[in-house]
Amino acid sequence: MQQIDRIYIDGAFVTPHGEEMFDLFNPATEQVIGRVRLADEHDANRAVAAAKRAFVSFSRTSKSERLDMLESMAGALAAREDDLYEAIVEEYGSPVSRARWMAQFAAASAIEVAKTLRQYDFTRRINASDIVMQPVGVAGMITPWNANGHFISNKLATAIAAGCTAVIKPSEMSAIQTQIVTEALHAAGLPAGVFNIVTGRGDVVGATISAHPDIAKISFTGSTVVGKAILRAGAETLKRITLELGGKSPFVVLDDANFAETVPLALQAGFMNNGQACIAGTRILVPQQRVAEFEALIRAAVEKTQSGDPRDPATVIGPMVSEKQWHRVQRYIRVGIDEGARLLTGGEGRPDGLKSGWFVRPTVFTDVRNDMTIAREEIFGPVLSIIAYRDLEDAIAIANDTTYGLQAYVMSSDPARAREVGARIDAGRVMINALTHDPAVPFGGFKQSGIGRELGTLGLEAYLEPKAMMGVV
Ligand code: NAD
Repeated sequence: MQQIDRIYIDGAFVTPHGEEMFDLFNPATEQVIGRVRLADEHDANRAVAAAKRAFVSFSRTSKSERLDMLESMAGALAAREDDLYEAIVEEYGSPVSRARWMAQFAAASAIEVAKTLRQYDFTRRINASDIVMQPVGVAGMITPWNANGHFISNKLATAIAAGCTAVIKPSEMSAIQTQIVTEALHAAGLPAGVFNIVTGRGDVVGATISAHPDIAKISFTGSTVVGKAILRAGAETLKRITLELGGKSPFVVLDDANFAETVPLALQAGFMNNGQACIAGTRILVPQQRVAEFEALIRAAVEKTQSGDPRDPATVIGPMVSEKQWHRVQRYIRVGIDEGARLLTGGEGRPDGLKSGWFVRPTVFTDVRNDMTIAREEIFGPVLSIIAYRDLEDAIAIANDTTYGLQAYVMSSDPARAREVGARIDAGRVMINALTHDPAVPFGGFKQSGIGRELGTLGLEAYLEPKAMMGVV
């Protein structure tokens, strides 16, 4: 049983002013494994004040000083990889097959930002003027529970690269992971006040940061509904706001696709991170004439997909992160049935043989229409929809008929043809016959999947303001 009763402000672990306690669970057992004392508005204000003080000198540090900090940060996070791995399995329920990668992702994120910084030129010349990219100010960062270490590390590393100081509000459900990350960042020896971590409730600490006049920029990853609230709260002081929100990504199977390759990729794209991934390919678009063939193959593959104990190396899908999330997924499965979609495999309840834990049966619906709730709303669980299409124009129209636009997948034996289709889909990233990631490439969404981009040069520039110095020689 872990007790977390410190937050991190101005270079030190301190007792929060907030007194509310929040239980932490192992989602595979439903047992309480810890308690965290939550920060409140007063703590958030203290954290912002510390970051504001630190900004004065930190914003003037050199590129090489910041590169050294990013290297220390990456080293300190790498040194805690094993602890982070344990916490990711225990507190989040990630299968061990994925947790190692997730634990490494935290340090890797800082290393990638360092690469971006190394090649970035903060000054450029236009005619007779110098354009100087200047740090925007104190950045507020609000993050979700589904890749806690990476989100904190990537956002903070980018802020540091830009010369911004930070106030971070991670998800209250990831407090054990956050504690490890915070200890690592403390060990990295960053100057006091450069980063401050205040775990607390979204509607208390998150809302305070979103409206605070001394916060110049918000970088938020989370749901679209909360993203909109943050945008509204930040409007009063015209904050620069980056939003990484939800998705309902189309996985478009063209009529010439090789199903032996496509079906496994569809399941990886749909079930990654226990189905709790913003980029999950949850709408599988299949040509009408090949639907029966696709159904038979995907059903056989799903029935071999293990949903259960995250510590079993054969497990692909672990539990949902919380009881609330489990009920949410169950409700969507019920809604799918009620609205007339046909259950191809899976369904309500836990997988056979499991009596406890927030486990979901891997579920695939077919005969889904794109106007059904399960095709429109983000479920955030291992529940996929097969939608039949008539021809290419129909496929593209269905792919784009969504309020989201985070990621899309196009599968074809002819990559050039897949690329042409991909070019017509409105999404921040399009995967051609692949499920891949490149941390130097911009990440973010069209439409209600977000505003702005993270990663690479565009991600760095989201923390910078251009200033034109004119009349100089
Ligand atoms: P969430 O929006 O409920 O919470 C995210 C964070 O916002 C948490 O720290 C929460 O405490 C905080 N928050 C809640 N209410 C707030 C408020 N009123 N003001 C300020 N902050 C507030 O999301 P979640 O359930 O933690 O995560 C799942 C969601 O995140 C999904 O919608 C998923 O698609 C999205 N997500 C997006 C990306 C991306 O990069 N696009 C990545 C991962 C997750």
